Amino acid sequence: MKNWFQKLGVKLAKGMEGRYGFDELSMCMNMAGIVLIFLAYIPYMQWMSIAAWVMLIWAVMRAMSRNHTKRREELNKYYGIKKKTTDKFSLWKTIWKERKTHVFFKCKNCGAVLRVPKGRGDIVVTCPKCKSKIDKHT
Ligand SMILES: [Zn+2]
Repeated sequence: MKNWFQKLGVKLAKGMEGRYGFDELSMCMNMAGIVLIFLAYIPYMQWMSIAAWVMLIWAVMRAMSRNHTKRREELNKYYGIKKKTTDKFSLWKTIWKERKTHVFFKCKNCGAVLRVPKGRGDIVVTCPKCKSKIDKHT
């Protein structure tokens, strides 16, 4: 019996040779799929089970893929989206933490978020990104 399991292990290892394997994106898709399976139990939300199975099958197909370049591109896109999201959340956290001492606003020219201290009256703020001057009351 032990020999049979060893042979099976060797066969599985040979079958996985050259395959991409599970990465962070695959794990994230698996977790999302599992969450969607539970959400599908909510009445009128059964359609989510289809989305869940698509996620789970897609994650396994990514892991079994031999096209490493394509999987790397997908992973890099995922990292880009993840970074944008975490940056936005960290900005919201900073705005909430400093809401009593600073005023936050967007530059009308380039969209950069600017931070100035409260209670300074009428001031002219120079955007560090595009160097445009903005009149602001704090
Ligand atoms: Zn600007």
